Amino acid sequence: MPTFEYAPAPESRAVVTIEKSYGLFIDGTFTRPKALFDTINPADESVLAQVTQAGPRDVDKAVAAARRAFDGEWGALSGAERGKYLFRIARILQERAREFAVLETLDNGKPIKETRDVDVPVAAAHFFYHAGWADKLEHAGLTPSGGPLPRPHGVVAQVIPWNFPLLMLAWKIAPALATGNTVVLKPAETTPLSALLFAQVCQQAGLPAGVVNILTGDGRTGQALVEHPDVDKIAFTGSTEVGKAIARSIAGTTKKATLELGGKAANVVFDDAPIDQAIEGIVNGIFFNQGQVCCAGSRLLVQENVHDQVVAKLKRRLETLRVGDPLDKNSDLGAINSRAQLERITRLVDIGVAQGAQRWSPECSLPATGFWFPPTVLTGVAQTHRVATEEIFGPVLSVLTFRTPAEAVAKANNTPYGLSAGVWTEKGSRILWMADQLKAGVVWANTFNRFDPTSPFGGYKESGYGREGGRQGLAAYVTTSPRTPSSTTGDTR
Ligand code: NAP
Ligand code: MG
Repeated sequence: MPTFEYAPAPESRAVVTIEKSYGLFIDGTFTRPKALFDTINPADESVLAQVTQAGPRDVDKAVAAARRAFDGEWGALSGAERGKYLFRIARILQERAREFAVLETLDNGKPIKETRDVDVPVAAAHFFYHAGWADKLEHAGLTPSGGPLPRPHGVVAQVIPWNFPLLMLAWKIAPALATGNTVVLKPAETTPLSALLFAQVCQQAGLPAGVVNILTGDGRTGQALVEHPDVDKIAFTGSTEVGKAIARSIAGTTKKATLELGGKAANVVFDDAPIDQAIEGIVNGIFFNQGQVCCAGSRLLVQENVHDQVVAKLKRRLETLRVGDPLDKNSDLGAINSRAQLERITRLVDIGVAQGAQRWSPECSLPATGFWFPPTVLTGVAQTHRVATEEIFGPVLSVLTFRTPAEAVAKANNTPYGLSAGVWTEKGSRILWMADQLKAGVVWANTFNRFDPTSPFGGYKESGYGREGGRQGLAAYVTTSPRTPSSTTGDTR
């Protein structure tokens, strides 16, 4: 495959100021940078900045700051006052949207049209949505009427992955603050910069010191944070493997946890589906964010009698996708987030071919430096193939067929995961039947990858437990047990 040199437009970088090095954000201020590691632009492997590897003593300091804020000024605020801070943060995110979009694209490798149109506006929407809940929690149906008022847990440890750095931060911090908790958040090692810019937003919004603390670092920082004895609740998004390790580590403690883990979603296309519309949904389902999406429609289940037609149309559509400079607003696919992720994708696709799948990619020239993988379709995939069962987390679609609706359900559910699914058919009754049968937290009908703060998101089985977003997402951040003599702060009214 031919390659080209990648050179991002200098004017795009000028939109955002990136410091040479960053400290940690603890108790409302940035610490002195130390124990530095690089964060790079995966599109060209250039170093963007150096960030601090937080150690156990930094974790202690951040958790102590969050505890002081919870026991002090923040815990004493009314819901209406907390809501004002969330509204302010939401508005600042909108005002600084371009900065966030460019920074996220540089640090993550995803196309600017996605950060501009999805990541940043939906992150702001989460703060707006949760701002509205802050003074209405007693009406959220979290407790029976006349029961105890919902109260915050206290200090929440939040650990997020690299695929939607700002959006996952918003999914975590907005409900935690709306319900009156305080936060220590660790972004992923490869994408720390938008969380550090968000720390500046907290300062700009005048958020009281210690309410939000940001610790950069690798898995060791995450582990020290979730294992800290003064943490009351953990909210984790990431791999099933690390999620299980966290669940084991908190067994026997009083810590609460929500785990948002991996997925292997089926996107089911029936022969009566509007095929052209379905093709767009299939493309969006697996190539959005280079397929590095926990709810990606990575298994296409297509009814046998339309298989050839769907695959032919899909290939024609993929010929039109543009892979390249993530800062170019015409790019449909950007870079893979890291070398390790690129190697994982490459390995699994090779295994798929070795097990008998046919591999196809459109002609496209990939940049000579950076981490790139072409949009890829694997046909002839059997249920026993590893590419049909394991999460690839890349721009790779595995195509399987079915004959009857019952077979579609059986194949769709034949996975340890249960995060999301898609159904494409003209029949409303079939959509309802399928939604009932599919063991998935989210089922999209004649669409895919739609996100809205009002809609709860989460998984079954090895995709984790707990919901984020919507009224249900608030439940994870409050306790409804009767007040004990020691729990005197944090009334959510
Ligand atoms: P990961 O390795 O589990 O990492 C997630 C986060 O946990 C990162 O911040 C990571 O730090 C940290 N971490 C690593 N080891 C830890 C430990 N022992 N204790 C505490 N924290 C630890 O996952 P990933 O590779 O970044 O993300 C991809 C996975 O996330 C996929 O499986 C995907 O499906 C899942 N995901 C799920 C959702 C969802 O909503 N269900 C959303 C997005 C992604 P480092 O960055 O330093 O490794
Ligand atoms: Mg990076």
